Amino acid sequence: MKYHPSNVSRISTDVLVLGGGLAGYRAAVAAREKGAAVTIAFFARGASPYIIGCNSPIAHADDRDTPEMFFEDMVRGGYGLNDRRLVEVMSTGAIDAQRELSAIGVVFPTENNRIMQRHLSGNTYPRSLFIPEGTGRVVLEHLTAHAEKIGVQTVAGLKVIDFLNDGGDLVGALLWDRREQKFLAITARAVVLAMGGIGRIYSDSTYPADIGSDSYGLALKHGARLIDMEFVQFEPVVTVWPEACLGMEMPTAMLGDGAHLINAKGERFMLRYNPGHGEKQIEKAKMALCVQTEIDEGRGLPDDTVIFDTTVLPAERLESYKTHVRRLRNAGVDPLTTPPRVRPASHSQMGGVLIDETGWTGVPGLFAGGESAGGVHGASRLAGNGCADTLVFGALAGRGAAHGLLPMASRKWDAVIGASLEGIQTSERGKTRADVAELKQDIRETMLRSAGLWRHEAGLAAGRERLRDIARSASEIKTEGIEEAIEARELGHMLVTAQVIVEAALLRTESRGAHQRRDYPNQDDAQWLKHIGFRTDGKGSFFREDIPIQ
Ligand SMILES: Cc1cc2nc3c(=O)[nH]c(=O)nc-3n(C[C@H](O)[C@H](O)[C@H](O)COP(=O)(O)OP(=O)(O)OC[C@H]3O[C@@H](n4cnc5c(N)ncnc54)[C@H](O)[C@@H]3O)c2cc1C
Repeated sequence: MKYHPSNVSRISTDVLVLGGGLAGYRAAVAAREKGAAVTIAFFARGASPYIIGCNSPIAHADDRDTPEMFFEDMVRGGYGLNDRRLVEVMSTGAIDAQRELSAIGVVFPTENNRIMQRHLSGNTYPRSLFIPEGTGRVVLEHLTAHAEKIGVQTVAGLKVIDFLNDGGDLVGALLWDRREQKFLAITARAVVLAMGGIGRIYSDSTYPADIGSDSYGLALKHGARLIDMEFVQFEPVVTVWPEACLGMEMPTAMLGDGAHLINAKGERFMLRYNPGHGEKQIEKAKMALCVQTEIDEGRGLPDDTVIFDTTVLPAERLESYKTHVRRLRNAGVDPLTTPPRVRPASHSQMGGVLIDETGWTGVPGLFAGGESAGGVHGASRLAGNGCADTLVFGALAGRGAAHGLLPMASRKWDAVIGASLEGIQTSERGKTRADVAELKQDIRETMLRSAGLWRHEAGLAAGRERLRDIARSASEIKTEGIEEAIEARELGHMLVTAQVIVEAALLRTESRGAHQRRDYPNQDDAQWLKHIGFRTDGKGSFFREDIPIQ
């Protein structure tokens, strides 16, 4: 059965924001405040509610902190690969973001009339804002309420399955409404892409289930460039035990506050890798490698973990991590007396869609912000900068979109929507949902095996071959029902994103930040101080296009 544009409901807006995390909401509010009619559409809440710490160099905890120092930390932490234009914007924009959030009623805890800030790994000074009840969740609640108050329209619970593209102009999106079992087209004069990162593309992952590489798959398909995709950050300390907390990221801020990492021999092993500082003043990517090395070299516990020793923290400090302490206690483990066990898991993507200082992607009508966009973090992201990125570049993309509205044109909407529906068809003897899920799982296992924390040519080449096999199986998919057809779209986005990561990782014959090659252990600035980029060839494949550092 084929789907026809005449059965698709339509609504229209000036700016369509895709994604309901912090980047999406900051974009929606910023575009609305510029006078645009704004609709925000999303499936669920993404990674944003899980945010604990958010960098802003407001210098309340240490008055030596400055935007210039923040800039230097980012470039050092990103191994020089950062887009300096974006780093500049973020180093001051993060201060504005705190003021803007306070202005809409977000309350950050204070001590002696100064906002409290935590010291996160890789940052020279304590500059991470936090809210004990859950930073991301509370900020998102305030932004959502504010957006509603100023007239942003909301379309929640729907899946974006394609952009609407009129001869290269990005003019909206096609969404699937599972509850109503129907499609909705939202036509727009500008689109902000804020659909988050790679999602569960690796079998060990901290991402929530609503993120599925769609940002990158769709951006690539519609002419945007993806850069720095080889840099996947593995969170160093993700809970394995207690089992009820599996996948819960332990805050590196706790390590900054004095918690220790201990191996099976009882050693505080980080002192060996980072003399004088131990678990402090080391960026997450490096810490993940250290933890993985302990495990690989047999100094981990029998379940391939190390101990995250919370018991050495002063009780008052520990209790300030309310969410984590509550979750551990609910699982029957009191972190005051019994420490959890952890190991690395894939966590965030440093790369993404290439943008300029206005959040524009180079595609008419398409802007991007937050984890969808790339460039600011370089080869490794400072702890606390995922959040700062969403707040700064979300707002930037929203303002950019409101300024960059495409002219109202009489468009042939049936043809535009029809193109997005192309390929969505069901057949009686198609694949079942389980078949599609199996291919997704194959991608996840392939990625962990071939493009995990430590990489080498043979492993990456084997991964590339396996992904080609999966692509062949995916191309033969004829789906039985509409839900399978939607999942097959997601599978396509996951697959192309995985392929781009593996290609870039094979090309980059050096080690830098979150990309570590056992066969090329050194950083090679002469050859590789540049972004590896990819762009579509318009025929379903992609080609390499490197971008110099700006
Ligand atoms: C467990 C965890 C803890 C973290 N802790 C921190 C921290 O303490 N500090 C920090 O700086 N960073 C942290 N990060 C990273 C940070 O959360 C992300 O970088 C950030 O939230 C990304 O925000 P975003 O708005 O770009 O995307 P997200 O918050 O991921 O939002 C993406 C949105 O797009 C929607 N979406 C995606 N695909 C589709 C689709 N096809 N159709 C419809 N909607 C779609 C999602 O439903 C969601 O609404 C953490 C990440 C995780 C996973």
